[in-house]
Amino acid sequence: ALEVRLASRPHGWPTDENFEIAEVSVPSPGEGQIVVRNVVMSVDPYMRGRMNDVKSYSAPFQIGEPLDGGVVGEVVASNFDGLKPGDHVLHGLGWREYAVLDGTQALKVDPAVAPLSTYLGVLGMPGLTAYAGLLATAEFKEGDVVFVSGAAGAVGQLVGQIARLKGASRVIGSAGSADKVKYLVDELGFDAAFNYKDGPVAEQLAALAPNGIDVYFDNVGGEHLEAAIAVMNPHGRAALCGAISMYNDTTPPAAPRNLVQLIGKRITLRGLLVGDHQALQPQFVAEMGAWIASGELKYTETVVEGGVRQAPAAFLGMLRGENTGKMLVQLG
Ligand code: NDP
Repeated sequence: ALEVRLASRPHGWPTDENFEIAEVSVPSPGEGQIVVRNVVMSVDPYMRGRMNDVKSYSAPFQIGEPLDGGVVGEVVASNFDGLKPGDHVLHGLGWREYAVLDGTQALKVDPAVAPLSTYLGVLGMPGLTAYAGLLATAEFKEGDVVFVSGAAGAVGQLVGQIARLKGASRVIGSAGSADKVKYLVDELGFDAAFNYKDGPVAEQLAALAPNGIDVYFDNVGGEHLEAAIAVMNPHGRAALCGAISMYNDTTPPAAPRNLVQLIGKRITLRGLLVGDHQALQPQFVAEMGAWIASGELKYTETVVEGGVRQAPAAFLGMLRGENTGKMLVQLG
């Protein structure tokens, strides 16, 4: 069976050279363990941070060791009472064709309830991030004008729609291509969207937000955050979810330069970690499930075929914006 290992640590943008594919044998399960044939795996922005050797909320990957991350697969052998061959599980040992883990570390999922891929996207970690980040971290309330960056990605596509469904007075998104902008407005019901590559973010955002914004959901950081602060209304709130514009930077960011505006406008910037919001999981699944079933909320996935060998390319492609919606790799 194949697995993807960290070959070296990137300086700046990662490349294929930072990864290696290794052939390993599939061990049999120990006491309380299961063997899973992985079916569909996630590539996520936070994995870029884990390629660095720095202490963070998620431990760094180790050189010569397989990478890991969210994945759904089928149990093929089990020494764990709660799971049997044929069951499907969500677990954390992606980047490999077969995983061996304690049954307690796997969450059973039902492909009859929702497609397996959705447990990594709209109904999974990115979905809860969007839901909790908007409603809890940013304290969204009906009538707010909401701006979300990275709006056509896994998290962003949901933030804008949740805001719309919860009664935002205006939803604005930014993304990195004309097609994505069109998708946001035509398919997802955003009121307005712009391509941040077309010109200064501050100018484009100001033109689309004549009455300012009340909530900013930040997936990008830097120039986007500065632009959001500039048009933020008094008592505005920003959920700082990610800063993908900086993940490959080797020099300190140039923006935001206008933090002084936080004082006069009494703006709140609050960091968000999805792991803190497990308590919202039941409410999130119930509400999100109903919106999907009624057709009120749509989601897109970009699924890279070709197995685990394609995982590094899928990950690098996601960092470059090749995905619309959740980026996934089909393994089997
Ligand atoms: P996405 O599906 O949004 O994929 C990443 C996207 O980032 C790309 O598609 C690309 O789209 C965009 N991007 C890349 N470089 C830049 C740039 N320089 N400026 C602006 N956009 C850029 O990923 P996720 O939805 O999984 O994650 C979105 C954000 O949320 C990330 O910052 C991630 O780290 C964060 N996150 C945080 C969590 C938490 O608990 N705090 C949990 C989950 C995610 P484009 O074509 O628009 O450039």
